[in-house]
Amino acid sequence: MRILNEMLGGIEAGGTKFVCGVGTGPDDLKTATFRTTVPEETIPEVVAFFQKQGAIKALGIGSFGPVDLREESKSFGFITSTPKRGWGNYDLKGSIERALKVPVQFDTDVNAAIRGEVRWGGAVGLTDAVYMTIGTGVGGGAIAHGRIVHGLVHPEMGHLRLPHDRERDPFPGICPYHGDCLEGLACGPALQARWGKPATELGEGHEAWALEAHYLGLALVNILLTLSPQRIILGGGVMQNQFLFPIIRAEVVRMLAGYVRDPEILERVDEFIVPPRLGNDVGVLGALALAEEALEKAA
Ligand code: ADP
Ligand code: ZN
Repeated sequence: MRILNEMLGGIEAGGTKFVCGVGTGPDDLKTATFRTTVPEETIPEVVAFFQKQGAIKALGIGSFGPVDLREESKSFGFITSTPKRGWGNYDLKGSIERALKVPVQFDTDVNAAIRGEVRWGGAVGLTDAVYMTIGTGVGGGAIAHGRIVHGLVHPEMGHLRLPHDRERDPFPGICPYHGDCLEGLACGPALQARWGKPATELGEGHEAWALEAHYLGLALVNILLTLSPQRIILGGGVMQNQFLFPIIRAEVVRMLAGYVRDPEILERVDEFIVPPRLGNDVGVLGALALAEEALEKAA
């Protein structure tokens, strides 16, 4: 059952900024952005925004992580082990719930984003789809059989281990845990560390992009072979470079090497690997979709 036309709240909680939104969906969404400093500063600003907007019926939070998603756990709804000062072991869900007194549904940022695309964006009607963000970090969320994949903890597709040819790319990677995992090799800060200038300043002709598309292609092939999604959506700052899409698509098709033969991939790859249709609102609209779930659960 869908609960329609209720005013809902959504929070895309990121390591750099909190994007807050109120509305019933994309058509009447009203957003505001607050810097992520320390919880004692950021959370009151967020709470004040929602109080000013008037009554909302429920709220969704898509959060940076790692987070605890086990409902039976004492730290359910907490951000757990982030190095970000003040946010480690922080009860994000609880602090918002206590302040606003509405049902809150909590998940990772990318799990929220894929819900947003399924609810209002480029994955409407699909039962199996993946959203990946390539930004300050790399992360992925999946819908399988129409349900979000949580598993034991939650998927950490950003830390996939990839073949790393150190002759082609001697860069050791920047993941504090793994060095040269996907995030360590391909996130925005990795691009900056490898090439000596911000990813935003590497022009389209730079050799960085062939390598970037190669790593992203490898990751997508692994995800595709594991989950068999009907569509893969790529967002985040690095993917603002639209020219990356055709190179990534070509890498995926090349590395599949004719083994997976579905025409959705071989003939319509332009519609198979796509940017989010919800654009920059994908995260906050995903959180709004989580708020709908909170309402349905409460009903
Ligand atoms: P966050 O991951 O913090 O939510 P973003 O998704 O915007 O934020 O990712 C920020 C990262 O993306 C930075 O490392 C930045 O250099 C990179 N980035 C942002 N815009 C672009 C762009 N147009 N081209 C390449 N890299 C970009
Ligand atoms: Zn890693």
